[in-house]
Amino acid sequence: MEPQSPIDDLVRLSTAHRAALERLGIANIRDLLYHIPHRYESAADIREVAQLHTPGEVTLYGQFTALEMKRSFKTRVPMAEGTFDDGTGTVRVVWFHQPYLAKMVPTNELVRLRGPLSISKGRKYIANPVVERAAGLPVLQDTEGMVADGGMQPVYPETAGITSLWFYHAVKRALEARVHESLVDLVPREILEKYHLPTLQTALVWAHQPKHQKDADAAKKRFAFEEVFMIQLARALEREKNKEKRALPVDADEARVHAFIDTFPFAPTGGQRRAIADILANFLEPYPMARLLEGDVGSGKTAVAAATAYAVVTSRPVPGKNFGNLQVAYMCPTEILAKQHFSTFTSFFKKYPIQIGLITSSGCYKFPSKVHPDKPTEISRTQLLKWVANGEVPILIGTHALIQKAVKFKHLAYVIIDEQHRFGTAQRQALTLKDGVAPHLLSMTATPIPRTLALTLYGDLDLTVLDELPAGRKPIDTKIVTPHERSGAYTKVRELLAQGRQAYVICPRIDEPDPTKQMALQARSVAAELKNLHKLFPEFVIEKMHSKMSPKDKEDVMAAFEQGKIHILVSTSVVEVGVNVPNATIILIEGAERFGLAQLHQLRGRVMRSTHQPYCFLMVDKASSLGNARLKAILKAKNGFELAEHDLAIRGAGELYGRRQWGISDIGMEALKNIKLVEAARSEAFALVSTDADLRTLPDLKKQALHTLKDLHFE
Ligand code: ADP
Ligand code: MG
Repeated sequence: MEPQSPIDDLVRLSTAHRAALERLGIANIRDLLYHIPHRYESAADIREVAQLHTPGEVTLYGQFTALEMKRSFKTRVPMAEGTFDDGTGTVRVVWFHQPYLAKMVPTNELVRLRGPLSISKGRKYIANPVVERAAGLPVLQDTEGMVADGGMQPVYPETAGITSLWFYHAVKRALEARVHESLVDLVPREILEKYHLPTLQTALVWAHQPKHQKDADAAKKRFAFEEVFMIQLARALEREKNKEKRALPVDADEARVHAFIDTFPFAPTGGQRRAIADILANFLEPYPMARLLEGDVGSGKTAVAAATAYAVVTSRPVPGKNFGNLQVAYMCPTEILAKQHFSTFTSFFKKYPIQIGLITSSGCYKFPSKVHPDKPTEISRTQLLKWVANGEVPILIGTHALIQKAVKFKHLAYVIIDEQHRFGTAQRQALTLKDGVAPHLLSMTATPIPRTLALTLYGDLDLTVLDELPAGRKPIDTKIVTPHERSGAYTKVRELLAQGRQAYVICPRIDEPDPTKQMALQARSVAAELKNLHKLFPEFVIEKMHSKMSPKDKEDVMAAFEQGKIHILVSTSVVEVGVNVPNATIILIEGAERFGLAQLHQLRGRVMRSTHQPYCFLMVDKASSLGNARLKAILKAKNGFELAEHDLAIRGAGELYGRRQWGISDIGMEALKNIKLVEAARSEAFALVSTDADLRTLPDLKKQALHTLKDLHFE
């Protein structure tokens, strides 16, 4: 048996096993060995039903007395339901959407069950637990195959359709057949020794069959290091590759750019100054910039974009020759944002003879208009594309429409991407010009990312953090508002509206009921709240905003809100990203429990854009939501970076950047809690690449690094 041999060589596979392994990306014995347990359980972890008084993850040991498939009473969602009995008490168990599980779970046989316990009105139930046959459990007997010493039973991640026990046995066979001994340890020996990490062979045994927790921990650390090291190597290689490309020469004269900044209606913050200086320094290099600008919501990223765009569009394509100009593309994720940036840019550039184009799927504009030099004018797409292609329009702002094939630039030198986690490699390549010339790239994000994650995901990019908010901003007053405090929240809204401020009310739904939820669980909708608010605030103008409206309607509503003609905007989370209406200083988020952490943070950012006191009310449907971890984190964290670190600390593979989102393994995510480990992996990887830019001497290592990167997905 070889590491590359299929799992079939090891054990007979049922169709269900095959499907589960495929889902986990386990194709051969090597993959199986690299499927590392995420924790270990001993008999002591098993709880008695009678002793369960608080909700949370539990492991129980007992049997099902009845299991049946049905549909939920109101919404007809298919489900399986059963009663689990451990001799001390019973728990109701339900599987939503997975009624077939009822067929697979044995009844009247001892099983181990693990899942989230809920307690409602004294009744205990567990939804979607993992169930394993428990014949070999150490509590029962020390049968063949189970761990005796210390009773450390491996628990593997993601075991739907396949059990930890199955993994335990399959891995045991592989280790007995000594397959692991022919695996090549790709992490250089000196590095392992330097950081006191076990070799691959030792680590595999310690991970899958540990005798002591400290061995398991050492193994885990090694695999975590290995994963981060591979990612960092791939990043280092990408960085080297980027240096082979050429960029168009931008005249990065600081004094000239500062003169432009002096025309802004505000003085830049220290963070903005530093970001601009970093970017201008990149412009001096012969190869394209690849930089991430991470700045909390409201930190003023648009001004950084404008100042650096100015440096580019006032540069000549051929240095020393006084004709033509370089071009800038500014890409935004939504049409609302594209329009907003277009209007911000036109105000920044209005004293300069620089034309700005806007391209979205619903229309094209150009600034200035020939007739009204201080206004934009609507033009045809064909006309705009022509002016972009011949270089007459140096700044083009738009949505994804911007990178379509039909859009051709004459001298595209700088691409700015707003509020994207990261510009996809494919899109970046689409922008690479002919003959190895590529534009400078600035990716801007307000998604707070802990430093370790940023170093890992964006290791090939330079990072600038805007860590300062403009002067005079007041800390936001965030509150969780329970149903009986609702009227108090409306009183605050009325008070602020009376002072001339504006409000957002965010709802989780537009109007149609969600068929997968019971009626009682239905979230508030824009349609219903609009009615409700009309009754409560007859004296104010209230409008709605959501993704199903036509682009024209959205635009009209947004413009009216910006001009203060609408007092309350009832919206879905479409206004989540980037929308800038400084006079709106209060946001009510209905059904706040339903939003993700990153979304809540972004939504709250909508009202932190002026020197007025901002308020964020997290409206919850139940008083019990006061204990909701996400809402508590939002209450506690003053800014996005605190929030991100907080989230990483409490949840590891947190919601902001879950494993599924990025393709990093659970172990890799754990590693990100450890800044020392990440920094060590990074410096070792970069040191290797600095002595051997293409890893010619370590081809296997290079292959593995690129392979690891393939599993990551940002796009
Ligand atoms: P974000 O970083 O979230 O994209 P914006 O660029 O939209 O932030 O800026 C938020 C608001 O702050 C805008 O109204 C902008 O005009 C204002 N602003 C930006 N920089 C400063 C500054 N240095 N001083 C005062 N206000 C600023
Ligand atoms: Mg922005």
